[in-house]
Amino acid sequence: MTTNNSESSHDFIRDIINDDLRTNKYDGRVHTRFPPEPNGYLHIGHAKSICLNFGIAADFNGLCNLRFDDTNPVKEEQEYIDSIIEDVHWLGFDWEGRLYYASDYFEQMYQYAVQLIEAGKAYVDELSAEEIRDYRGTLTKPGKQSPYRGRSTEENLDLFRRMRAGEFPDGSRVLRAKIDMASRNLNMRDPVMYRILHAGHPRTGDKWCIYPLYDWAHGLEDSIEGITHSICTLEFEDHRPLYDWFLDELDIYHPRQIEFARLNLTCTVLSKRMLLELVQEGRVNGWDDPRMPTISGLRRRGYTPESIRDFARRIGVAKTDSTIDIALLEHSLREDLNRRAQRVMGVLRPLRVVIENYPEGQVEEMDAVNNPEDPGAGMRKVPFSRVLYIEREDFREDPPNKFFRLAPGREVRLRYAYFITCVGVVKDEKTGGVVELRCTYDPATRGGDAPDGRKVKATLHWVSAEHALEAEVRLYDHLFSRENPTDVEGGADFKDYLNPNSLEILTSCRVESGLAGAKPGSRYQFERQGYFCVDPDSSAGKLVFNRTVSLRDTWARIEKRER
Ligand code: ATP
Ligand code: MG
Repeated sequence: MTTNNSESSHDFIRDIINDDLRTNKYDGRVHTRFPPEPNGYLHIGHAKSICLNFGIAADFNGLCNLRFDDTNPVKEEQEYIDSIIEDVHWLGFDWEGRLYYASDYFEQMYQYAVQLIEAGKAYVDELSAEEIRDYRGTLTKPGKQSPYRGRSTEENLDLFRRMRAGEFPDGSRVLRAKIDMASRNLNMRDPVMYRILHAGHPRTGDKWCIYPLYDWAHGLEDSIEGITHSICTLEFEDHRPLYDWFLDELDIYHPRQIEFARLNLTCTVLSKRMLLELVQEGRVNGWDDPRMPTISGLRRRGYTPESIRDFARRIGVAKTDSTIDIALLEHSLREDLNRRAQRVMGVLRPLRVVIENYPEGQVEEMDAVNNPEDPGAGMRKVPFSRVLYIEREDFREDPPNKFFRLAPGREVRLRYAYFITCVGVVKDEKTGGVVELRCTYDPATRGGDAPDGRKVKATLHWVSAEHALEAEVRLYDHLFSRENPTDVEGGADFKDYLNPNSLEILTSCRVESGLAGAKPGSRYQFERQGYFCVDPDSSAGKLVFNRTVSLRDTWARIEKRER
């Protein structure tokens, strides 16, 4: 059971907004945006930002735009745009038709740049990228002015127009803001606003060969859309003076930038660049590989949107960076799946069991509970017969101390069925491996209780051999074997810390016959084994499952220890 059903929260950003509402700063409006650059698939870090921006809009009766910050054509693709739209929708948010593209504002941005040049606040520079970096100075050394800084307004206007017209090659000129080369904030040392890039854009085609840089473009996008609170991650804190400078110099509508700490998660990486590397080098099977921290990977793995939103609510937002234990994400997931997933029986590593005293050819329909957490989920029938499969690890020929499951001479309960006793072990003549168990059952224990009150110490899951469906099951572990894979040592690379055992494929699993025809995306709890989700790789003849998460809740144990 969750202790808090409300998805709304309280944090420093909402405090700021409450203050602004009190002082009527934006005429009582609250308008946020989620502004991804379409240069990769969204990950769980983006989900934090999505929940924050759309969540605030919902809490304050405001609006939230979805805006593609498509200012760098070299890295952006339609595939990414499509996936982002799908992912934000899937997470449960709606931009109500306010889907915008920064590229739609290119003309307006150009006009704003002309306005700055006319005001003597921007100039065309011909230093190379390397020289610009050199001249910029360091935190301890002031910058040096470019020899082109003093050009006349007319010359700047002419050169900028010709940059746009395509007269100059890539890298030969840039437009820079004229601010202060001695500023203590490096971002204020005449930052570049436009660069020349003869590259086709997914939306504007060949119309433009100059493209605006983030710091110049972002505030304009916010201003044009009438955003009130422009929420971004902490690394932009030092860029805020520049965000404000551009809007003040242009004297246009001025939203407020607010920074919060980005999400970091243990045992994974949350950087599109790194995730792209994993995809391109074939270290994973695409962006939606169920081991990936992408929204599409989590979806394929079996995560629910509700569990991701719950996770975002639990972690909240803060002003200092920290790393969240991935076990907390899994905890949110288990809580949600526990409430909603139908229970079934699935045997991952089957061991054949013959019930010697059970009549050949007889089949009984056993009554099974679909979900003990949800009485409304009802009951189902599960066929029982003379030959069954149980889990290989539920049997030990020489049981160690504290192993209470099946062993020669020992009696256990089969879930929803009978007590059985192991009376024989059949082995492979060559390898000596156990291939079959011979058992007897007690007909008086139907349903799982002995009328004489005798107890057994274990209850095993099982399936009927002739009825069960064959299935493939993919078991996952963390993508990286280190808590912080980007904390690399001595020339290592984050990919050196990929977990070699992050995927295990079991091909001869057996599941209840009732799962025939289960649709991709359907979620189940396999009793005692975890939560599973039908993978799109399933075909009519063969079900493929992803194990979403095991049942062992390491987060709950951590919480208990801390209490
Ligand atoms: P990455 O670092 O993965 O490349 P990005 O910041 O370059 O991400 P954008 O497309 O620019 O990706 O991000 C869109 C929005 O998502 C931004 O407002 C950004 O601040 C936010 N965001 C990105 N990563 C995280 C994260 N780990 N935690 C919280 N918010 C994030
Ligand atoms: Mg970015």
